[in-house]
Parts: sequence; structure tokens; C-alpha cells
Amino acid sequence: MRLLLVEDDRELVELLAAVLRGEGHVVDVALDGQRGLHLALTRPYDVVVIDRGLPALDGLDLLSRLRSRSVRTQVMILTAMGTVRDRIDGLDAGADDYLTKPFDLGELTARLRALGRRAAELAAVLRIGDGRLELEQHRVVLPDGERVPLTEREFGLLRVLATHPETVHTRASLRRTVFHDAPSQSIVDTYVHYLRTKVGRSVVRTVQGVGYRLGAL
Ligand code: CA
Repeated sequence: MRLLLVEDDRELVELLAAVLRGEGHVVDVALDGQRGLHLALTRPYDVVVIDRGLPALDGLDLLSRLRSRSVRTQVMILTAMGTVRDRIDGLDAGADDYLTKPFDLGELTARLRALGRRAAELAAVLRIGDGRLELEQHRVVLPDGERVPLTEREFGLLRVLATHPETVHTRASLRRTVFHDAPSQSIVDTYVHYLRTKVGRSVVRTVQGVGYRLGAL
């Protein structure tokens, strides 16, 4: 995993970084909130660990700023405070997990692994309204939990639409990217029809005169 530790206790953070590197992770360290914010906004991490009490920018402010910039990276908050109220504040600010100091190193690393697994699961899924497209299994999961396996071409088409949910795709561009320049543009309409029949009419929206975009389930 790629990890970022934002912690001003130099001794603690150096110990944590050494342990986590020893487990094979790539670890960056920031000793204040501003530096942490800069790194978290500009580099890809699987999990970011943020101490709550930080110089320059408080840990919860840092977390709120990440979430307001749509950074959805898994975040664990570390804190010396451990009251119920503190936990609620941390979770409200968008934390995925919360650990109170002093903590057991084994517990920290186990929880980081759990967050890393969740990050991997999230990366392997694209949302379609209340349903989702599972990229490894090549299937749609409907809002009621029903699983609908897709053929290669159905999956390829829906994947392009779900990767850019705000974009209206022309039939020409879909023919090019999904169907490898098949001779007729009608192949796009055919596969939109297959998807709608299999998954539900609302999965793909027709934009009259332009093409198609992702719908919702
Ligand atoms: Ca601190």
C-alpha cells in the first residue's frame, strides 16, 4: 500500500514509518497539517493516517478539506482524546476509522490492512445509481442485490459509460472505443438494447440527436 502519515510527534511517526516500511508499504511522512494536505491532494495514497492535534492545520480541518475537494482516500484519525464526542466529530468529518493513543502497533497495522482492502474494493467498483458495476467479475449488481453477468461487449460498453458518468458519448465514439471500429454504428444501439433488456431500461439514457450516457439503477 501507499501510505501517508501526518503526525507531528517525530519519534512516534518515525517508529510507525519504520514498522510499516518493514511490512513492505511505501510510506510518506508529513509533520504538519499543511504539508499533509499538499501531499494528500497531489499524490495517490491507499490510506492516509492523520493525527488530530497538528500544527499549521488541525487534523479534522485537514480531513474536511480533503473531503470538500472530493478526495475519497481511506482516512484513519489518531487522537489522544478518546471520548465518544471526539469519535463522532472524527467520523462526521469523514474519517473511515479512528484510533485512540496510546494504541497497540499490531492493532494499527491490522486496521490499516482492513482500510487498504476497502480501498481496493472501492477501486474495483463503479457506481450506477443505487447499483454498481463490478470490474473484476464483469457483472452488474442491482440495488436489490441481484447479480447480472455481462458479456465482454456489454461490459465494455457499460464500463465506458460508468467511468465517465457525466459525459454524453456519441455513437461514433462508442463504436470506436468499445467496438473497435465495427463497420456499422448500429452495433452500439444493439448493445444498448441488450444492456437495457438484461439490466433494466434505465441503465443507459438516450440523449436525442447526440448519443448515450449512463443512467441509474
Ligand atoms: Ca499531535
